[in-house]
Amino acid sequence: MKADDLRKKYIDFFVSNNHKEISGKSLLPENDPTVLFTTAGMHPLVPYILGEVHPAGKRLTNVQKCIRTGDIDDVGDATHLTFFEMLGNWSLGDYFKKEAINMSFNFLKDVIGIDINKLSVTVFEGDNDAPCDNDSIGYWKELGLPDSRIYKLPKGDNWWGPAGQTGPCGPDTEMFIDTGKEVCSPECIPGCGCGKYFEIWNNVFMQYDKQEDGSFKPLAMPCVDTGMGVERTITMLQGKKSVYQTELFIPLIEKIEELSGAKYGESEDTDMSIRIICDHIRTSTFIIGDEKGVQPSNVGQGYILRRLLRRAIRHGKKLGLEEKFISKPADIVIDMYKDQYPELNEKREFIFSVLEAEEDKFGLTLKKGEQEFSKLLPNLKKNPKLIIPGRVAFTLFDTYGFPLELTEELAKEEGMTVDRDGFDKAFEKHKELSKQGADKIFKGGMADDSVMSTKYHTATHLLHKALKIVLGDHVNQKGSNITSERLRFDFSHPDKMTKEEIQEVEALVNKAIEDKLPITMQTMTVEEAKDLGAMALFSSKYGEQVKVYKMGDFSLEVCGGPHIENTGDLGVFKIKKEQSSSAGVRRIKAVLL
Ligand code: ATP
Ligand code: MG
Repeated sequence: MKADDLRKKYIDFFVSNNHKEISGKSLLPENDPTVLFTTAGMHPLVPYILGEVHPAGKRLTNVQKCIRTGDIDDVGDATHLTFFEMLGNWSLGDYFKKEAINMSFNFLKDVIGIDINKLSVTVFEGDNDAPCDNDSIGYWKELGLPDSRIYKLPKGDNWWGPAGQTGPCGPDTEMFIDTGKEVCSPECIPGCGCGKYFEIWNNVFMQYDKQEDGSFKPLAMPCVDTGMGVERTITMLQGKKSVYQTELFIPLIEKIEELSGAKYGESEDTDMSIRIICDHIRTSTFIIGDEKGVQPSNVGQGYILRRLLRRAIRHGKKLGLEEKFISKPADIVIDMYKDQYPELNEKREFIFSVLEAEEDKFGLTLKKGEQEFSKLLPNLKKNPKLIIPGRVAFTLFDTYGFPLELTEELAKEEGMTVDRDGFDKAFEKHKELSKQGADKIFKGGMADDSVMSTKYHTATHLLHKALKIVLGDHVNQKGSNITSERLRFDFSHPDKMTKEEIQEVEALVNKAIEDKLPITMQTMTVEEAKDLGAMALFSSKYGEQVKVYKMGDFSLEVCGGPHIENTGDLGVFKIKKEQSSSAGVRRIKAVLL
C-alpha cells in the first residue's frame, strides 16, 4: 500500500466511525512559544483537549505534517525522519479506551491488513502517581492479543504530558510490528530501538489532571489522542525494512545517485550521507513551502532550516557534489506531495530561489571560515603537539558556521589534528546555556492560558484589522506569537511603516478599546465565514466548521480562540517596535499597558 492510499483509508475509516475530518495545520505553530514546529497532530488541538469546544465536534480525524528537530541525530536510521506525516483521530470527551483500542485494532486488521500475529503493544505499568493501565490490557486481551505480546513499561515510555507544569496527561498504549529480525538480547522488547520492533501507532489516554502540588486528579473530560506515522506504516505494509525503501524516498535517492555518481548500497558511509541529504532536503522544502513558510536565518525556525540545509550540503560535498544541487531533489519532493499540500506547488519557484540563495551563502561562509583559519594558523602552529584546541574549532563553528569536519580537513593538510573532546565540551556548554534559555521560555508556554495571554490574543485581532484599514487590504497575517507580556505579529507589507502610520494604527486599536466592543463567537462553515468577509488564513477544508470571532463591527476573524468578552478590558495598546521580519513581511511587537 502506498502513502496516498493509507492517508485516504485512514480518514475514510474514521469518518465512517463518525469522526469529522479537519484540516491539518501549518508546520509553524501559532501562539505557542514553547516549540518551533508542529510536532504531532495533537499539537494544534491542545486548547480543545484543555476544554475549549471544537467547532467540528467531539470526534476528529486528520493528516498533520510534523517536524521533530529532537530526532535529528537519529536521522539515517530506519524509522526517524525530521519531517513526517501523522494520521490522527481524537475523542474530545467522547469515546475512551475501549472504543479507541477497538478502532485501532480493526483498522490495522481489516482495513490495511496487518498480520495481527506480528502485533505487540506496550501499556503503562503504573507507579506512585497512577496505577497500571489494566483497562487497556483488558481491551487488548479481549481482542485476542496474548499476554506475551502486551508489555508493561514505565512513564518514560508509556505516558504523555502534561504540556506544561500542570494539566491533562495520562497513559498511552503503543503498537509495534515485529519485523522478524532476531532479538538483540534476551531482554529485547518493543521500544528497545534495535529494529526488531517497529513502532507505528500510539493511543494516548488523557485521564488525569496534574495539580500544582504534583498530585494527579481524575480529569473531568477524558480525551483520546492518537498518532500513526505514514512513512513507518507503509514501510511495514510494503514488507520493507526502512522508510528509505518506500516510494517516498526511492526517487530522491536515485536523484542523488545520478547527480553525484555515488551508488546507494555500496558503503555504509555513503548510504548514511545520502539518507541524511534526502531527509534534510525534504524537511527544508516543507519548511520553506509551508503556508507560513520561513527562510534561513540565525534564529528560531529559520536557524533550524539553515542547519538542515548546510548539513545536507556538507554531506553532498562528501559525495563529491560541488555545484549547487538542492533544488533538484526539492523539485521531486514538490511533485510527490503537490496534491496533498498544494502550497508547495504554489511556492515552487520561491522554494528554488531560497534554496539556491542559501547554497550561495554557505559557499561564502566556507570561504570566510577558511580565511579565518589561515589567519589563526601561524599562532596555532606554535603548539608543539600540533593540536588545535577544541574551543578554537568551536569558535570557527559557532561564529562563522564553519563545520568541525572542515576544520579537521584543513588541519590535516597542515599536519595538525583537532581536539575533538575539547570541541564537544565547548559544544555541550553552549547547549546547556541555550537549554537554560529554552526552559525559561517553557515556563511561559503552552499551558499558560493566563488572562493576559488571552487579552493579547484579542488585541492581535484588533491590530490585524487596524493594519488592513491603515495600510491596505494586502495586509495578511504571516505569523503570531503571544506571551503574557507582549504580542508579536508578522504581516505582509512591502515597506517600513511610517511614524504616522504606526500612530494611526495605535489610535484605531485604542478607539476600539474605548468603544468597549462586545466580543461574540459563532460557528459556521468556512464558506459562510468567507461570505461574511471574515479575515482568515483560508487553509481549511471545504465545508469545514470554523469559529468566527466578532468584535463589535470592527473585526470579524476566523480563529480558535479563546478571547475576552469585551474589548474595554484591554487597557492601553502601544506598539513598541516595527521591523522587518523577512522579505515582504513586517513584524510588530506591542504591549498592553
Ligand atoms: P519513537 O519512540 O520511535 O521515537 P515516538 O514514541 O516518539 O516514536 P510518538 O510521539 O508516539 O512517537 O508519535 C506517534 C507516531 O508518529 C509514531 O508511532 C510513529 O509512527 C510516528 N513518528 C514519531 N516520530 C517519528 C519520526 N521521527 N519519523 C517518522 N515517524 C515518526
Ligand atoms: Mg520519538
